[in-house]
Amino acid sequence: PNSCVSDSSDSVISSGSDSEGQVYKVVLLGEHGVGKSSLARVFGGVEDGHDGDETGNTYDRSIEVDEEEASILLYDIWEQDNSQWLKEQCMRMGDAYIIVYSVTDKSSFEKASELRIQLRRARQSENIPIILVGNKSDLVRSREVSVDEGSACAVVFDCKFIETSANLHHNVRNLFEGIVRQIRLRKDSKEE
Ligand code: GDP
Ligand code: MG
Repeated sequence: PNSCVSDSSDSVISSGSDSEGQVYKVVLLGEHGVGKSSLARVFGGVEDGHDGDETGNTYDRSIEVDEEEASILLYDIWEQDNSQWLKEQCMRMGDAYIIVYSVTDKSSFEKASELRIQLRRARQSENIPIILVGNKSDLVRSREVSVDEGSACAVVFDCKFIETSANLHHNVRNLFEGIVRQIRLRKDSKEE
């Protein structure tokens, strides 16, 4: 049984580890059920149709943004377990963060603010790119958080804001392009 002789399939895509291409670590935060894993699967190009309960996934993908390739390692591990250790690890490891709430769930919106504050505390002196994401924008009739509330919150917390629908794949691409642009902006201003 040596069926594992030349299984190179999973090393082909992750090309970003050599000198020129840096891999950006992006961490998903947010309350249970807001759509983190759904967004991650859309980003990762995984077929829909399974509401997987699986936790602790990472997705490795390159996207072209402004005619330049960027490699993203997306971590959907926030809910992997309930340990304080993991939460602290998450707060430390990211080059950028996506804080997700559901526009149909006010308490997830309030939780997003809490997470933003925790993140600021954990990474005090750093200016980390953060995007606040109001997901499930397709659920028009059960909306509890308006676009204006979302964008006002982002202004207060000094981060970007976008509404998405993982189900309709709406704005998901824009979200990840936005993250890459944010990371590049901060990097450029640091180098000057
Ligand atoms: P997580 O706990 O944050 O990882 O959330 P999941 O990705 O597991 O999603 C929780 C539930 O919300 C699932 O039943 C998803 O199908 C649903 N969901 C996620 N994103 C959307 C969306 O944009 N629109 C709608 N209508 N449902 C969504
Ligand atoms: Mg999940």
